[in-house]
Amino acid sequence: MDLYIILGLERSATLSDVRRAYRRLARKYHPGINPGDRNSASVFSRVTEAYQVLSDPEQRQRYDSRGSLTDTLPESSFEFQGFDFSGSAEGEAASTFGDLFADVLRTDDRADGVAADGTDLHLSIRISFNESMRGTERAVTVARLNRCDDCRGSGALRMVEGRCAACRGTGRVRWVRGHMVFSRTCVHCGGSGRQEHRACLRCEGSGAVQGSESVRVRIPAGVDDGGRVRVPKRGHVGRRGGRPGDLYLTVEVEPHPLFTREGNDLHLVLPVAVHEAALGAKIEVPTLDGRGNIRIPPGTQSGQRFRLRGRGVPDFRGRNHAGDLVVEVRLVLPRVVDERSKALLREFAELNEGNVREDF
Ligand SMILES: [Zn+2]
Ligand SMILES: [Zn+2]
Repeated sequence: MDLYIILGLERSATLSDVRRAYRRLARKYHPGINPGDRNSASVFSRVTEAYQVLSDPEQRQRYDSRGSLTDTLPESSFEFQGFDFSGSAEGEAASTFGDLFADVLRTDDRADGVAADGTDLHLSIRISFNESMRGTERAVTVARLNRCDDCRGSGALRMVEGRCAACRGTGRVRWVRGHMVFSRTCVHCGGSGRQEHRACLRCEGSGAVQGSESVRVRIPAGVDDGGRVRVPKRGHVGRRGGRPGDLYLTVEVEPHPLFTREGNDLHLVLPVAVHEAALGAKIEVPTLDGRGNIRIPPGTQSGQRFRLRGRGVPDFRGRNHAGDLVVEVRLVLPRVVDERSKALLREFAELNEGNVREDF
């Protein structure tokens, strides 16, 4: 491919002509302004390559004398066949660069063999707190693109051989733009001139069909709220041999009525009667695995915390990181209804004069 043609320049173009042409084309084809447009991206890379050679006097001279690049431009399989002066278009009005090369650089989706990986799928599921501790299994219904069975994912069906209609059996297509004639290997038959395939009707040539599937997912023990579980290869199917995407499940863990989780520790608020806190007590507490006991020392205050080592979230991954159960005391006054208790409290007050708010 002629670098001057790529930039739309005469051989006699000056360095500032080269720069101007590059700026103009780069503005038009830069991938940043044409996101996802493979055609623009490939034009842009050719334009940039042409600019790199022609803007460097040494490289340009080497190119001019040889008429080609030693390291030839990749992928494009078309040839420039010379000029055709039968057309009526003339000068700059004939065509812009984009018009000129749009057909050349466009590749047929079905014909190009580039594998495309399937995209990932994202779903969320809700499980109970206890399930998050034990681990669980769920069947989730996934709407995904599956491989089309009719064409086994190829998008094409083999048929009785015939002559390729696109190139009339010649294997090449030829077309005229402005004064120039191009030809290229026919993308429909890959240059063979024969037609052996037709697009699959079921998937319209894409190789994939929309389907719905029930997928069994194992949720590992210890998963925290917001945690993500990856199920490999259960996303959308890949195209033309590309990898299938993955399925990601975001796990929402329902709150537990008693425990709240912080990392691997579990927190529990424990109601403690005033007399238990004052005199000390052994109190039974709920834990994940049945019941446990803690000893509250005499004089315990509300808000004080006690740790039961290793009684938090179990060590599911074998890293010796089992969490603790953190018990926070909340002082509670028992309902005092009988006269005897009131009398005792009055006596208690007389014996313990002093203001608990003395720091105020
Ligand atoms: Zn198909
Ligand atoms: Zn053909």
